[in-house]
Amino acid sequence: QPIIWWIRRDLRLSDNPVLHQITREGRAVLPVYICDPAEDALGAAPQFRLGLGLAKLAQSLKAQGLRLIVKRGDARSVLSDLAKETQAHGVYWSRLYDPASIERDTEVKTTLRSQGVTARSFGGRLLFEPWTVQKKSGGFFQVYTPFWRAVSPLPVPPPLSAPSDLRQPMRWPNSLRLEDLDYDRRMHHAADVVASHCRVGEELALARAETFVQETLAQYDVLRDVPGQDATSGLSENLAWGEISPRQIWAMCDKAPPSRAVETFRKELVWREFSYHLMYHTPHILTRNWREGWDAFPWTHEIGPEVLAWQRGQTGIDLVDAGMRELLVTGKMHNRVRMVSASYLCKHLMAHWKTGMDWFENCLVDWDPAANAMGWQWVAGCGPDAAPFFRIFNPDGQRQKFDPAGTYCNRWIAEGQLTPASLSIDFFKACPKSWTLSANALRPDPVVNLTEGRNRALAAYQAMKQRG
Ligand code: FAD
Repeated sequence: QPIIWWIRRDLRLSDNPVLHQITREGRAVLPVYICDPAEDALGAAPQFRLGLGLAKLAQSLKAQGLRLIVKRGDARSVLSDLAKETQAHGVYWSRLYDPASIERDTEVKTTLRSQGVTARSFGGRLLFEPWTVQKKSGGFFQVYTPFWRAVSPLPVPPPLSAPSDLRQPMRWPNSLRLEDLDYDRRMHHAADVVASHCRVGEELALARAETFVQETLAQYDVLRDVPGQDATSGLSENLAWGEISPRQIWAMCDKAPPSRAVETFRKELVWREFSYHLMYHTPHILTRNWREGWDAFPWTHEIGPEVLAWQRGQTGIDLVDAGMRELLVTGKMHNRVRMVSASYLCKHLMAHWKTGMDWFENCLVDWDPAANAMGWQWVAGCGPDAAPFFRIFNPDGQRQKFDPAGTYCNRWIAEGQLTPASLSIDFFKACPKSWTLSANALRPDPVVNLTEGRNRALAAYQAMKQRG
């Protein structure tokens, strides 16, 4: 009687509590991925990246004599049928923490248990389960610094090694082919370009983490805000799909000599934890203003020409356009530039943060519901522990401060280069006609004057405050 490993966001063999448990029980493992309606509704780039990750995982499983079984349909009925068909002893999975997944997984558990199948969920995605961290006075944290103080002294157990003796089931059920899922269908022309910037799979993720800790981490606190430098870990896409666990990265940091840089990096990993803590305890962070008082702010929901220009990296503001083009071409964007371009959208263009959050959800290969929502609400000013609204980033000031030599902007805007490092040009050449980025449009006129945009946002903010 095998145990079904229901694969979701844990595309790895090492430090995987599910596989560890199945091996401990001495049972065969049946790895299953289900494209259920929620998976089908993922944004274009996340879904594409998930497909790449699954293909890589299938290879690793093959090397162990295992197959990746691919199914399509409602997770509850697929698992229920599969458990009957294979006479599975149980179905095990790693937890997700967004409300829709929690609801679905609870239903799956109830159904399986009612048919006598063991259904168990495990941690592994986070360092600290959201319900285990509490304020001294009780309740959850709403501010980052006390959260960090509470979790940083807690012990983090060492990662589990990859099981070497995974047992195969006696019989394999039918499976779709991964290609049948058509996970690159909405990437059109961009699939190859974006794929060339992805670091897919557990092996590459672990190798990158090692190199980062050995060679780059020591400078992290000084250089992490400089977008033209390769100074951050670049592990977000792997963390998003569970190709590496935060525990593995944490343990690698233990090997580095203690320093401010190491602490700064750990604090970033803990920002990720904080976003999950918030999403678990206040799931409305995903859908509406975290602070209700902000419902009166006159953000626009319209996707007019200015918002379209933002999406296409054609606002005429260098750092914003460079960031938005980096996003289109690579599926990622440097954190500092994410903050600046998000702020520009919500403040200078007065667009609702959800418009930006949705665009990122469609374009990011490292899309993570918790980090994305927290990031947007933080920038917009309506989230927990948010940046004060009146502190409006000046994108030109930020460019001068963090990209003074133009390394980042020139790379992504690719202006003035006879043979531009190509990326953005290549990308836009392949785009639909309306997107075309001609040489003239590399640096268009600003769609909104920065001073006017800033004043308009501040006036709206003052009016909201006066209305109380
Ligand atoms: P590093 O600097 O190497 O940091 C290490 C890890 O810490 C990251 O991989 C990430 O998992 C975590 N981390 C770092 N900064 C943050 C942060 N501010 N919030 C939460 N976790 C963090 N990150 C995502 O993973 N997915 C998203 O969808 C996402 N959307 C964002 C949207 C906005 C508007 C903003 C401002 C930030 C968003 N972030 C998101 C956070 C951050 O920009 C990325 O995690 C970071 O750029 C990834 O690069 P890195 O792996 O090199 O990070």
